[in-house]
Amino acid sequence: MVIVLKPHASAQRIEQLIYEIEKKGLTVEKVVGSDYTILGLVGDTSTMDIDSLMINEIVHKAMRIQEPFKRANRLFHPKSTIVKVDGKEIGGGKIAVIAGPCSVETEDQIVEVAQKVKAAGADFLRGGAFKPRTSPYSFQGLGYEGIELLVLAKKATGLPIVSEILSENMVERFARDIDLIQVGARNMQNFMLLKELGKTNKPILLKRGLSATIEEWLMSAEYIMSEGNTQVILCERGIRTFEKFTRNTLDVSAVPAIKRVSHLPIIVDPSHATGMGWMVMPMARAAVAAGTDGIMIEVHNDPEHALSDGNQSITPDEFSELMNSLRIISGAIGRRI
Ligand code: PEP
Ligand code: MN
Repeated sequence: MVIVLKPHASAQRIEQLIYEIEKKGLTVEKVVGSDYTILGLVGDTSTMDIDSLMINEIVHKAMRIQEPFKRANRLFHPKSTIVKVDGKEIGGGKIAVIAGPCSVETEDQIVEVAQKVKAAGADFLRGGAFKPRTSPYSFQGLGYEGIELLVLAKKATGLPIVSEILSENMVERFARDIDLIQVGARNMQNFMLLKELGKTNKPILLKRGLSATIEEWLMSAEYIMSEGNTQVILCERGIRTFEKFTRNTLDVSAVPAIKRVSHLPIIVDPSHATGMGWMVMPMARAAVAAGTDGIMIEVHNDPEHALSDGNQSITPDEFSELMNSLRIISGAIGRRI
């Protein structure tokens, strides 16, 4: 962090500020120029608050040189993190495939989809039990019954299960039954929930908020990691832009951006990003070509009658075709799927 002091700041006030900064365990390098004096802070400045510094009347400007996220930062952890989920890896050489319906609807539905996506090559089964719908009158999910059905589908297929958590009071149950706990876009900045999840030792799939910047998203990962849980996987799922043709705009550039600044694995969800089943295949291909560590695809046995997100869901046959296509692209970039 660099602090630029106002011209004519008195030597006594400068020394007082340096004393306060050093009390926090930081070292201060003072550079005296003809007009301005600049303080360079060396050490962990994560506890320094820019706004409080700006209130000090001798401070002209305070800036961070490094990103505010520490534990999620590749600078502090150069090697890419591989997260283990029920014995399977996300973030290594193999591209992880999570597939399944938007919502768990019935036992037959979830078991049938689980068997079919497994046969086509999926590694994990997804299914929403608690649905954060935009309208309170839309289907809200089966709740804990949905979790029980997911557990049955796991028993039938061996696929580890992924499901979205909505609030802190669900953490204990999810930590017991769900292999990869999903935090949805709408909850990306539910900091109390993130902190509770940070106290578990369960892998967390953190979706990007509807309008979150890369930095805000990584700060949310930091909330989980700062409580001790470093098993975080990021999921790009499209962001709000002015374009209305698609449900959201898939930010494929988030993949190389995250890879550059963070060591955490990143996966891509082209289903929620586009909102249209026919666009899932080309966008999944783009994600794999861009270097994603995984994909999350909504697959339904009967999309036309799905209780949520039928329009963006693809059938098991289409999913199988998608996997064949992704195998070719993965091979071309030296990865497996
Ligand atoms: C989901 O994956 O079911 C979901 C609701 O996604 P998002 O939070 O990205 O909208
Ligand atoms: Mn959905």
